[in-house]
Amino acid sequence: MNTRFILLGPPGSGKGTQAERLTLQYGMPQISTGEIFRYNISNETELGKKVKEYVQAGALVPDELVVDLVLDRLAQSDAKDGWLLDGFPRTIVQADAFAANLTETGGAIDRVLYITVPKDVLIQRITGRQVCEACGRTYNVNSFPTKTSGVCDHCNGKVVARADDTEETAKVRIDVYEEQTKPLVEYYRDAGLLTEFDGREPVDVTYAKIEAIINDSPATRMAAE
Ligand code: AMP
Repeated sequence: MNTRFILLGPPGSGKGTQAERLTLQYGMPQISTGEIFRYNISNETELGKKVKEYVQAGALVPDELVVDLVLDRLAQSDAKDGWLLDGFPRTIVQADAFAANLTETGGAIDRVLYITVPKDVLIQRITGRQVCEACGRTYNVNSFPTKTSGVCDHCNGKVVARADDTEETAKVRIDVYEEQTKPLVEYYRDAGLLTEFDGREPVDVTYAKIEAIINDSPATRMAAE
C-alpha cells in the first residue's frame, strides 16, 4: 500500500507513539532519524561517532548527514510501497532536498500529520518518558507506566529513560524545534499538505483521527477496492 506520510511536531508531542501503532496496523516502515542515530551511537559506528555530540546536546545533526541517510533508507526495498517519516525533515534545507528527491523519483507526500502540544506539557512528558531497550516500546512514568517498574509489559526487556530526555536537554530541543523545525508548518501548509492534531487529546483519539485520514488516502482506497 503506497502510503507516504510525515509526522511533524515538537519533541514529546507523541509522534513516536502514533508511528509505532500506525506501522503495526498498516505495515509501512517507520523511519525515525532519531532512532537510527541512537542505534548507531550505542553500536559505536562511524555514523554514531559523528552524530553523538549533537544528539547528546539536543542540537540538530548537520543537514547533509541526515538527508543522505534518509534517502539511502528510502531506497531500501521495504520502503518502496510507502513510508512513515518520524523526525524528518526538521529544517527547510532538509525539506527542500527531500522534495527535490521526490520529484526526481516520481514520489509524493500524501499528507503531513502535525501534532501540536504546549511547551509546559512537553517538558513534563519528555522527562517522564521511558523506552524498552529490547523492543523499543515507549512508556511514561506519569501517564502510561509499565506494570512492573523498569520492566517492559510486552517483552520483559529493561525499560530506561533516553539519555537526552533530561529537563535541561528537553528545553534545548524544544527551542531548537521552535527555531529550526516549526517553519515547516507554514511550508507544508502552503503546499496544501498539512493536517493539524491537538496532541493533548488522548493517544487513541488522535490515532483515530489519523487513521481516518490514512484510510481516506487514494492508495488506501485503491488497496481496499
Ligand atoms: P528524536 O528521537 O526525533 O527526538 O531525535 C533525537 C535527536 O536526533 C535530535 O535531538 C537530533 O539531535 C537528532 N535528529 C533526529 N532527527 C534529526 C533530523 N531530521 N535532523 C537533525 N537532527 C536530527
